[in-house]
Amino acid sequence: MSEIKRYDTVIVGARAAGASLAIELQRLGQKVAVVDRATFPSDIMSTHVVYPNTLKRFERLGVLQEILDNGPPPLYTSWIHENRMFVAPHTPVDGRDWAICVRRITLDDIMVNKAREEGADIYEGWTVTELLGSGSEEDPVSGFIAKNGDEVIQFEADTVAGADGVNSTVARLVGAQKRKVMPTDTMLYFAYWKGVDTRNTQDFFFEPPWVHAHFPADNGYHVVTMNGPLSERPKIKNMDDFYMERLKSMPALWSRLKNAEKVTRVKGTPKLEGYYRDSVGPGWLLVGDASHFKHPAGAQGIGDALHASEAVAPMILAGNYRSEYPKWRESVSRELYAFCKHLAEVPSDEGMRKVMDAAIADPILARKLGDVWCRTSSPWKDVIPRAPFLAEIMGESVDSVLEPFEEESSVPLAVTA
Ligand SMILES: Cc1cc2nc3c(=O)[nH]c(=O)nc-3n(C[C@H](O)[C@H](O)[C@H](O)COP(=O)(O)OP(=O)(O)OC[C@H]3O[C@@H](n4cnc5c(N)ncnc54)[C@H](O)[C@@H]3O)c2cc1C
Repeated sequence: MSEIKRYDTVIVGARAAGASLAIELQRLGQKVAVVDRATFPSDIMSTHVVYPNTLKRFERLGVLQEILDNGPPPLYTSWIHENRMFVAPHTPVDGRDWAICVRRITLDDIMVNKAREEGADIYEGWTVTELLGSGSEEDPVSGFIAKNGDEVIQFEADTVAGADGVNSTVARLVGAQKRKVMPTDTMLYFAYWKGVDTRNTQDFFFEPPWVHAHFPADNGYHVVTMNGPLSERPKIKNMDDFYMERLKSMPALWSRLKNAEKVTRVKGTPKLEGYYRDSVGPGWLLVGDASHFKHPAGAQGIGDALHASEAVAPMILAGNYRSEYPKWRESVSRELYAFCKHLAEVPSDEGMRKVMDAAIADPILARKLGDVWCRTSSPWKDVIPRAPFLAEIMGESVDSVLEPFEEESSVPLAVTA
């Protein structure tokens, strides 16, 4: 016989999306439970750079100071190609013109603890296995079953939120479909380093077809990434060896690392396809990566998860999330989704030369380009007008980029899981 617990909203997943939604709903007066199969502090695959717009959201949630206490240095953005570079601060948001890189083992623990402090009940080490209700109009989702070893709890609620990532259990159980599926040409791998001199830039080293990045992170850690053509993946026998060979072949990057220590194995994934999922139904909704994913070169996932929680929490209270949330999600994500199509492509030396020429000659362009990641600049409205050749690389318009991915690309989850 399972124990029964009753809440207003129950959330599957306790990281960026789940913890932030719990904080928002608790503040609106709801009684919330968050269930995660992980126990915190716990890591998850992510290279975790966030920009000034997201720092503002951390501040709103009440976690910014604790994050900064872990010492992630403030970072401007630099691009390096063929021994030329430019560095750009970002347009300030609430007085901050810098990004930070904070490991998920640090960030997610702070977020979970904040949700608990706001009054949410957090169930760590519990796996959601079944939903209560089929999700039809006649039989709305009304909770879920979670298991921890031999223990079973039946969580009952008005609303179930799936904040459970790309392989969302909630999405699978309600049969939510993927739409606008956007394949990627590139893969992303990375490792953590210690003993690297800290600097106040996140540096992108373009060596087409490869792109490497160095992000100084929290607590003295550094992230060094390798982004390259997916077509190379089958040829790589040992990812750690390959990664080290690539880094050693780049003097500008290797000179920083040769006396430092790589403290983890290389991890990453070739599976970075973008998608939207149908994200609302009777008694349920999806937030964060469960709802929408775009190539991580855009570094938007964490900020977007927080933004969605902020927007959808009042809709859950008002009972209108089924009509309002899909419209809201489309309006805020469409342009970046189109931009991420470009970021998921393999760069060329010719294209990079043009970008570097233009950005070095025009510091306003350099800043507006970097600001796309902060959502304070529009690729098509602010960047391309200053550098029209970019329309050839990025596409003429948001519509022209997304048109090939519109509705016909709906894929049943059972096929893609
Ligand atoms: C290689 C890579 C690099 C990235 N770099 C960046 C970056 O620089 N900046 C950025 O903003 N974003 C980045 N992202 C994206 C970012 O990591 C995600 O957008 C973010 O983690 C989404 O948070 P989430 O809370 O939606 O899901 P997740 O972080 O995936 O959390 C889902 C949680 O749900 C739990 N869960 C799942 N199923 C169940 C179940 N059945 N029962 C109980 N619990 C369950 C999991 O244990 C997990 O804790 C990157 C992603 C990748 C893959």
